[in-house]
Amino acid sequence: MKNKQFAVIGLGQFGEAIAKSLSKKGAEVMAVDVNQEKVDYISSYVSYAVTLNATDKKALTMQNIQDFDAIVIAIGEEFEQLLLCAVNLIELKAKRIIARAKGDANKLILEKLGIKEIFQPESEVAALVAERLIYPGIVSYLKLPDGFSVSEIKPPKSIHGRTIEDIRLRDKYSINLITIKRGFTELKDEEVKTESHLTGVPHSSTVIEEHDNMLVFGRDTDIEKFIEINS
Ligand code: ADP
Repeated sequence: MKNKQFAVIGLGQFGEAIAKSLSKKGAEVMAVDVNQEKVDYISSYVSYAVTLNATDKKALTMQNIQDFDAIVIAIGEEFEQLLLCAVNLIELKAKRIIARAKGDANKLILEKLGIKEIFQPESEVAALVAERLIYPGIVSYLKLPDGFSVSEIKPPKSIHGRTIEDIRLRDKYSINLITIKRGFTELKDEEVKTESHLTGVPHSSTVIEEHDNMLVFGRDTDIEKFIEINS
């Protein structure tokens, strides 16, 4: 399969992190900023780094920006710059635009402009930290529409050592167990290492162990209730 090509515009903290993560995963990344120093710094981490002003449509065209599989606009502080860049990309018929919004007002304006993929790093991280503090049993989650999520949770105390049949996750708590993440001790390069692996599709006789992580699907409120009741 051909490597995906991504452009990241705005190399502040988030843009830089996104560009590096994409590169690490083997994607071809063009990193863009108006600030030469930021471009010089990122150049050793990405396939291509270029200094340009993203409000300059001609400059974007010269980089064939419309041919990239996706473009992330990670400009945070200067919303006007972000907006002008977004308008340019729309006019150039960019295939996929993912834009950062600092607050709800910015998000609304971007939506009105027709941008479908908007990320809000500040509020998304804030929500995750708050969730972790209130429900320490939730390791991570993928929020889905309508109040549902796929969550990775630590099994609450009262279910350790019990089978799925006995816990009755579906009937009692309206939660589906997708799989279990379990630590396995292996001998690797003459060293004893513990690595986590998925145990596949769970059966009714599968026993939940104390140090497992459970991957579950359900309503957020049902997952939280399940943890609370059994902790
Ligand atoms: P963060 O909160 O992620 O650090 P910032 O808003 O501080 O984000 O940084 C955004 C980056 O976007 C800066 O490096 C800035 O130079 C860059 N930037 C701002 N306007 C433009 C533009 N018109 N074209 C290209 N890069 C821009």
